[in-house]
Amino acid sequence: MNAAPAIQKLLDELERLPGIGPKSAQRIAYWILNTDAATALRLAEAIVEVKETVHFCSRCFNYAQDDVCEICASDRRDASIICVVSEPRDIPPIERTMVFKGVYHVLGGALSPMENIGPDDLHIAELLRRLVTEDVQEVVLATNPNVEGETTAAYLARIIKPLGVTVTRLASGLPVGGDLEFADEVTLGRAIESRLPL
Ligand code: ZN
Repeated sequence: MNAAPAIQKLLDELERLPGIGPKSAQRIAYWILNTDAATALRLAEAIVEVKETVHFCSRCFNYAQDDVCEICASDRRDASIICVVSEPRDIPPIERTMVFKGVYHVLGGALSPMENIGPDDLHIAELLRRLVTEDVQEVVLATNPNVEGETTAAYLARIIKPLGVTVTRLASGLPVGGDLEFADEVTLGRAIESRLPL
């Protein structure tokens, strides 16, 4: 490719994005070149704004702009039931099902002996603290239906159950080995409704 240096720089950056290969990078780059300056700048500013203003919720580790995220701050959520997920990106698919009315706790990953990720690398101590200080009745384990997610769920069930809190796991029906992120809303909604005690 013999693009002008500025265009090449944009192409190089776009190709780093997940799911974007050279062809898609080119399509987006030429769309940016073609569009009016205000539209392109809005995109650039949106990126700068999230990087400068978004951090982790002090309570659940979801993304937030205030001290706590929109979900933790809402008085319409049932704080007695906590849904545990691996990453903030697992929350929107669960929200879209409109089945879950509780709150969340983001672990920041999953247990993986292969990658040397142990309990201390995840927000597990913070979860246990919430179970002691907040009036929690149920913990729904919504880690991904793959090896790391199942290992994490089994570990959490083992340490939470002695605290007298009901522990449930999303029902089967989710594609095994997959990511919650990619589950369709109907399947995921059904898996939440028919969650099973562990
Ligand atoms: Zn939160």
